[in-house]
Amino acid sequence: MECNSCNQEDCAAKKRGSEETDKEYEERKRLYSRLCRIKKKILVLSGKGGVGKSTVAVNLAFSLRKAGYKVGLLDTDIHGPSIPTMLGLNGKRPSMDPDGMVPLDVHGVKVMSVGLFLRDEDEAVIWRGPLKMGVIKQFLMDVKWGDLDYLVIDSPPGTGDEPLSVCQLIGDITGAIIVTTPQRVSEVDVRKSITFCQRLNVPVLGVVENMGSFACPKCGEVTKLWGEGAGQKISGDMGVPFLGSIPLDPQLAYFCDAGKVFVEEFGETATGRSFSEILKPILERDQK
Ligand code: ADP
Repeated sequence: MECNSCNQEDCAAKKRGSEETDKEYEERKRLYSRLCRIKKKILVLSGKGGVGKSTVAVNLAFSLRKAGYKVGLLDTDIHGPSIPTMLGLNGKRPSMDPDGMVPLDVHGVKVMSVGLFLRDEDEAVIWRGPLKMGVIKQFLMDVKWGDLDYLVIDSPPGTGDEPLSVCQLIGDITGAIIVTTPQRVSEVDVRKSITFCQRLNVPVLGVVENMGSFACPKCGEVTKLWGEGAGQKISGDMGVPFLGSIPLDPQLAYFCDAGKVFVEEFGETATGRSFSEILKPILERDQK
């Protein structure tokens, strides 16, 4: 397959690596021809599961779309692909055309999730490492994103082989957002995620503190749960930017479970605005 995405002679896809087999070179060209039409690739990471990584990935992707960008959302979390549930896509299958898979369109965001191809939630649990990597690779090679300003990637949790493979396959990741809860015990996880990014030369865009405060559904008041600035303190100690804080908000939890996008309907609440605040420094950085 010839990659015609750009006409740059120095494009990495035009040079075959000395160790590469024919198959590997063909696969890399196919992968690059998909990914090089995407201007910015943002990885959403967390040191462990359950801290709200997918919630943040979904709402940041839709906030970017609301800000006028062409956006894709890619869920590579093979063991806990929660994005189909969060977007009400369970049971839907992306359509195939001879050239690849067409992402689903949700309110103007192109969405693709490994979960859309699993027969049941437990299927991936029995797969061995190489099979999982093969599935992720095939998946990345075959999705037809077209031209995008941003691709938001929901990474598998932790810092093990699966997020590592995702980063290596995608290659030039613009930067990573690390999601954490604000307790001091989370410091270890944040540190691991930062080391992971440094090892792979992925710039850390910053840390997002999730559920460090409580947004009252009755009066809208936001109350700190761990005292002032716990998230800032963690990122300050680690020497990475602090991007902002998202309150624990019962309405947000309800929307995730109901398959609805919170920022589409509640973009102007304190919680909704917290997502656009997090994006501000990232967009400013990208506009420089
Ligand atoms: P992860 O991707 O880190 O495993 P999820 O994004 O799937 O975590 O979130 C885990 C659960 O916590 C989900 O049920 C989600 O709705 C809920 N949740 C995450 N962030 C918030 C929040 N800020 N307020 C309320 N519920 C939240």
